[in-house]
Amino acid sequence: MDDEALWLDGNAVAGLLHEVFQTEMTTVQRGCQSCGAIRAVGAHRAYRGAGTVLRCPVCGDVALRIGVLPDRHVVQLAGTWTLALPRP
Ligand SMILES: [Zn+2]
Repeated sequence: MDDEALWLDGNAVAGLLHEVFQTEMTTVQRGCQSCGAIRAVGAHRAYRGAGTVLRCPVCGDVALRIGVLPDRHVVQLAGTWTLALPRP
């Protein structure tokens, strides 16, 4: 299977990211732990399967994993993220 067909850009999961973080996430800058690239979350590659995975657009290393369970989201972040989250 062609690798290009397997992924979408990070903007494709903007709705899920907003649900999890309660704020606009696609413009957040992330620093990659492997290659050092700093890119907007929306520029990352999104893969969907049993969960959602975002990968660095430069080196392909994992940036984020989200598992959606009936009562919660399970989130793993990798690299450097600076989030400005709204206060309740
Ligand atoms: Zn990278």
